[in-house]
Amino acid sequence: MSASKPDLQKTLDDVKNLIDTAKPLLEKVTTLEENETLRVQFLGRKSKLTDILRTLKEFSDEDRVIIGSEANKIKTQLSEMVENNSVRLLKIKHNRISDKEKIDVTLPVYEPQIGHIHPVTQMQWKTEDIFQKMGFDIVYPYEIDDDYHNFTAVNLPEGHPARDNWDTFWTEDGQIAITHTSSMQNRILKEFKPPIRVIVPGRCFRHEATDARHEHTFTQVEGVYVDKNVTLNNMLATLKTFFSEFYEKEVEVKFTPDFFPFVEPGGMMSLTCILCDGKGCNVCKNTGWLEILGCGMIHPNVLKMGGIDSDVYSGFAWGFGLERLVMLKYNIEDIRHFYSGKFDFLKQF
Ligand SMILES: [Zn+2]
Repeated sequence: MSASKPDLQKTLDDVKNLIDTAKPLLEKVTTLEENETLRVQFLGRKSKLTDILRTLKEFSDEDRVIIGSEANKIKTQLSEMVENNSVRLLKIKHNRISDKEKIDVTLPVYEPQIGHIHPVTQMQWKTEDIFQKMGFDIVYPYEIDDDYHNFTAVNLPEGHPARDNWDTFWTEDGQIAITHTSSMQNRILKEFKPPIRVIVPGRCFRHEATDARHEHTFTQVEGVYVDKNVTLNNMLATLKTFFSEFYEKEVEVKFTPDFFPFVEPGGMMSLTCILCDGKGCNVCKNTGWLEILGCGMIHPNVLKMGGIDSDVYSGFAWGFGLERLVMLKYNIEDIRHFYSGKFDFLKQF
């Protein structure tokens, strides 16, 4: 036997020793790190097994087959043990995480805080829907407008005493934060041809002390209707239909004459108290009626300024404050709640 010739039996013994050493170690592995260390030790590039496989070329063809098959058997066995260890240890690791973070389905649910639409906006959309179904178009006002459209064009010329009723915010260059959405009436009369059916919902501003019934900012819904042979009865029928839809119950309306410069005749429209259904309560002061809006037949001067022939056409107009309607719908006692930013209040709607 020459010294240079590798010894078949010794190499086979080395291979067998390898598995005898590795097996008990791999069986006792408790962590993934340990498993990896043993994998590198017994199967890695610098392992004893790799050394043995490197010497294969020095053997005769016959011996090479014997050693190669034995070494590959060992390699497969060790690889399987390492792989099984990985799967087992990963499962353990996963279960540990699950135990710590598992979901207890019996715990109370915390609902996420989701925002929602402001009650006045909700009711503005409802108002728009109802009037649209009745054939009305919707026009939105300019929040800053000029003196002509806010006052003069609705029969409130400069110096008119009724201007004092509107405490007005003026800009430094003489523009107005609109005091009512009637500010669009002149443009509507000019731009729409009769029959005209338009509502104007929008924010208005009054420079006045606030209390439970008055806010510096509020939402007005102006209505304009112009056609041939239009009467007050048409207006009352239109508004009765609207309020019955808005409050989802049948209401009665009545007209009480009053003076407003832009209407003739003008008056207040009342509806049966929706809180007591007309029986009498402290909100309606036991009258069973609620004065809800100013309205009337559009003044001939206003029609004329809008380019409408008042001998041929007539029309009615109204304006109501949306917040007041919403207050009655939900029995809210103070208008200032709406824009107070109080979430406890707003969350109710
Ligand atoms: Zn009442």
